[in-house]
Amino acid sequence: MSPIPGSGLAKGLAVTLRTMTRRSVTAQYPDVLPELPPRTRGVIGLFEENCTVCMLCARECPDWCIYIDSHKETVPPAAPGGRERSRNVLDRFAIDFSLCMYCGICIEVCPFDALFWSPEFEYAETDIHELTHERDKLREWMWTVPAPPPLDPRAEEPKELAAARKAAEKLEAAEAAEAAAAARADEPSGPAAEADGTGDGGDRRGGEGPA
Ligand code: SF4
Ligand code: SF4
Repeated sequence: MSPIPGSGLAKGLAVTLRTMTRRSVTAQYPDVLPELPPRTRGVIGLFEENCTVCMLCARECPDWCIYIDSHKETVPPAAPGGRERSRNVLDRFAIDFSLCMYCGICIEVCPFDALFWSPEFEYAETDIHELTHERDKLREWMWTVPAPPPLDPRAEEPKELAAARKAAEKLEAAEAAEAAAAARADEPSGPAAEADGTGDGGDRRGGEGPA
């Protein structure tokens, strides 16, 4: 069936009218900052304490834009008679955000939870070299990483939290036992205390004599 002459024009005008009556959605950035979803990929933060310099992130990065330098250090044995161990010490950790394509592979592959997405995106530079963020800057981004969403009410407790909770409970119990032992040691007892009349089995008649 051939279209009615002028129907295309009417459809176009209808779209124009509909759009004209809708509320404007122009973002007034930078006067009004956008409300970004919590999982926004803005910039990558480094939690240095968790990094073991395993190099997995640098190896898996498709753009080869993660630069890591490290050296080995010998750590004395944990217990007498044990063996010395060696560990990697981080010297440099940098990400070149002029090359990064925000794929998130480095964050996914990090086995030690040392890399996180931050929603911050205002780090444009006029000099491209400034887009290589060194470890101090990457650490600063960590403070802008949003807290993880709460767990489902009946979800299993994460292993790290369970371990930390058990360690805290153990410490608390040890401190309580120590305090109880100290209190017992301070309590007057034995023959000397009894002679003074201050012990539990002491003679308290001294204060009850005839006036
Ligand atoms: S997000 Fe992707 S491209 Fe960017 S540093 Fe990580 S792995 Fe490399
Ligand atoms: S994968 Fe994680 S732990 Fe390994 S070097 Fe990268 S940030 Fe550090």
